[in-house]
Amino acid sequence: MPTLPSLRSRGISKAFTTGKVRLQVIKDSSIDILPGELTLVVGPSGSGKSTMLSMMSGLLRPDTGHVYALDTDLWTLDETSLDRFRLQHCGFVFQGFNLFTSLTALENVILPLQYLGVQGREAIERAQEALEEVGLQARGHLRPTELSGGEKQRVAIARALVKRPQLIFADEPTSALDKNNGQIVIDLLKRIATVHGATVLGVTHDPRLLSHADRVIHLEDGVVVRDERNGTSSNIVTEHDHVLMQTQPTQ
Ligand code: ADP
Ligand code: MG
Repeated sequence: MPTLPSLRSRGISKAFTTGKVRLQVIKDSSIDILPGELTLVVGPSGSGKSTMLSMMSGLLRPDTGHVYALDTDLWTLDETSLDRFRLQHCGFVFQGFNLFTSLTALENVILPLQYLGVQGREAIERAQEALEEVGLQARGHLRPTELSGGEKQRVAIARALVKRPQLIFADEPTSALDKNNGQIVIDLLKRIATVHGATVLGVTHDPRLLSHADRVIHLEDGVVVRDERNGTSSNIVTEHDHVLMQTQPTQ
C-alpha cells in the first residue's frame, strides 16, 4: 500500500500588494507531503518559502485553492475551528525560537499542554519526556537566557513535540545556529518524522542541511524547479505545481 499524503495543497495562490506594486508570490501551487518524512523546501531569500509554509500550516489564508491537512479542508474552517486544529495537530518551530524568557525550559514545554487541558503530573511527565527526546532532560530548570542557541531551539522542538502532533512545521529552524547545532536540529526533525511517523515540513535556505532530508523541493525565483527524493532528482513538476513570482502594477 502506498503511503497517502497527510498534507496537500491544491491550486493555492498568494499575492501581496505594497503601495502600487502587486507581488504574486505563489500561483496555483499543488504539492503532496507524506507522513514519516522530513520534507524541506529550499530556495533563496524571497522565493516564497515562508508564504507557502504559512498557507499549508493554517497561518496565512491563500487567495485561491485548498489545503487539506489530515483530510481537513483547512481554509473552510472558521477562525475558532482553525485555531483548534492547529492547537491539536500542528507543532511549529521558528528561526527565532519564540520561547517565553520568564519561564524555565520545562515551563515553556508544558505551556501547550495547558492549552489542551493536560495538567499536573501528567503535564510535567510529558514535558520531561519531550525534553529527554531532544537531549535536554537535565536542563529543564534553566531559563532561555541560560541556554545556548542550539539548546533553545531544542526546547522549541520539545514544545512542538509535547502535543504529539501529526504535523510539524519549521521555518528556517537552523538559520540562527552554527553548522554543528544546525545539524543536531535537523537530525532531530528527521528523527521525529521517522520515529513518530509525523509529517515534518521545513523551509531553509541552507544547502548544507539538504542531505538530511528525505525529500527536497527546490524553489528558485518563485518556481518549483526540482523535487528530489533520497538524492534522486525528477522534474515531476506538473502544470499545477506552478509557483510564480511576478511583479505587476495594481489595477
Ligand atoms: P522566503 O521565505 O522564501 O524568504 P517569503 O515567503 O517570506 O520568502 O516572501 C516572498 C516575497 O513576498 C518577498 O518578496 C516578500 O517581501 C513578500 N512578502 C512576504 N510577506 C509579505 C507581506 N505580509 N506583505 C508584503 N509582502 C510580503
Ligand atoms: Mg522565509
